[in-house]
Amino acid sequence: METTPAFAGVRCVDCASTFDGVTATHRCPSCGGILNPHYDLEEVSLTRAGIDARDQAGLWRYEELLPFPESAGISLAEGQTPLVDCPTLAESLGVERVLIKDEGRNPTGTFKDRGQALAVTAAREHDATDIALATAGNAGQAGAAYAARAGLDAHVFVPSRAGFTQKAMTNVHGADMTVVEGRIGDAVAAYEDAIADNPSWYSTQTFVTPYRHEGKKTMLYEIVEQLGWTVPDAIVYPTGGGVGLVGMHKGATEFQSLGLIDDRPPLYAAQSEGCAPIVDAVEAGRGRHEPWATPDTICGGIEIPDPGASPLILDAIRESGGGAVATSDEAILDAAVQAARHTGLELGGAAGAALSGASALAARGDLGQDDTVVVLATGAGNKDADVLRSHLMAQGE
Ligand SMILES: *Cc1c(COP(=O)(O)O)cnc(C)c1O
Ligand SMILES: [Zn+2]
Repeated sequence: METTPAFAGVRCVDCASTFDGVTATHRCPSCGGILNPHYDLEEVSLTRAGIDARDQAGLWRYEELLPFPESAGISLAEGQTPLVDCPTLAESLGVERVLIKDEGRNPTGTFKDRGQALAVTAAREHDATDIALATAGNAGQAGAAYAARAGLDAHVFVPSRAGFTQKAMTNVHGADMTVVEGRIGDAVAAYEDAIADNPSWYSTQTFVTPYRHEGKKTMLYEIVEQLGWTVPDAIVYPTGGGVGLVGMHKGATEFQSLGLIDDRPPLYAAQSEGCAPIVDAVEAGRGRHEPWATPDTICGGIEIPDPGASPLILDAIRESGGGAVATSDEAILDAAVQAARHTGLELGGAAGAALSGASALAARGDLGQDDTVVVLATGAGNKDADVLRSHLMAQGE
C-alpha cells in the first residue's frame, strides 16, 4: 500500500486505539467505532504561500493531508469547485456576503465525488476487486463512476424513490444495481445482507469506510484558501449522514493545528422539517440523535432518519460554535428556484435546504449584518430538474 509520509494510520473515535492503515480497513477492530485517518502533523510542513502556488487539481492539491499520494489516486479532477459571490442573496439575507460553494460542478454533479474518490482509492490500495454501498442515489452514481475509473466492479443498493438520473447513470457506468422497494433504511438492509454473503466486497459506505469523510474535508481546505486564508462566519451545510460536516470540522482542526488558520468556522446543519433528527438533538441539547419516526422530505440526499454518526456531528456543531436549523420542503424548493432566478446558479433540492436554512438563520438573528456566509450547494440543479419544475407547476407556473 502506497501512503503519504505523515499518514500515521487510523484512530478510533470511541476507544482512541490507533491501527495501521493496511490491516484496519473499515471500522475499529477492537470496538467497532468509526475510524479517522490520523497524521503526524509535526511531519507536515505546509505554508499558505506554498499551497497558493500549487496547480494540482482535485483533492490531491492537499496531498500531505491525505492518506494516499497523488500517484495512487483514483481521480476525475473532482473538487476545486468555485466559491461564487452572490450579492443579491447577501442583500436579501441582510448579511455582508453570501458565497455559494458550487459542488454541482463535480464530475457526477455532487460532492459525493470527493468521498468516493478517496474511498475507491483506498479500495484499490487494499487490493479490492469489488466495492459496495447503499445510497439515496448520488453516492451510488459517484461510486459507480470511480469504480469504473479504477477498473473495479461496483454493487449499488438504492431505494426505489431515488432519482431517475442517479439510477440511470449508475447503470450507464456499468455498476450492478439493486433497486430496493422503500427508503434508504431498506436499501441499507439489503446491502448489509449482500455484503455478509460476499465478504470480499469492499464497502465504501458512509462512516463504514474511514475515507469518505476524509475526502470531503477538502471542501473546508478549499473554502479557506478561496477566502484568502480567512474563515467565514458561518458555513451552512445540508445535513443527512453528516459526512461532509464531520469531514470539514476535521479539516478545520488540522489547518488550525498547522497554524494555517486561527479559528475554526462555525458549522450549521440545515435539514428539512420532514426529517430533522440533528436539529432536534441540538435544540434538546442531546449528545446523540433520536431516530426520526416518519421521514418525509422531497430531498432524498438528506432524508436520513437515523444518522449513526450523530455524536460526531453534534460535537462538530458545538465545538465550532455553530447550530442547526430546519425549514419546510416548500421553503427549500423556493430557495433553489430563487437562486436560479436571482443568481443564475443551479441548486438541487438539498442545496436549496442549505440556502433556505441560511435565510432562516439570518431571520432569527444567528447571522449578523457583517457576516460572510458560505452556503454549501452540495448537488447540481439538473439532477432535480423534475422536482424543481413540479414545484413551479404546483404554484400555477
Ligand atoms: C448525500 C447528500 C447530502 C448529505 O450529505 P451527508 O454528508 O450525508 O450529510 C447533501 N446533499 C446532497 C446533494 C447529497 O447527495
Ligand atoms: Zn475502537
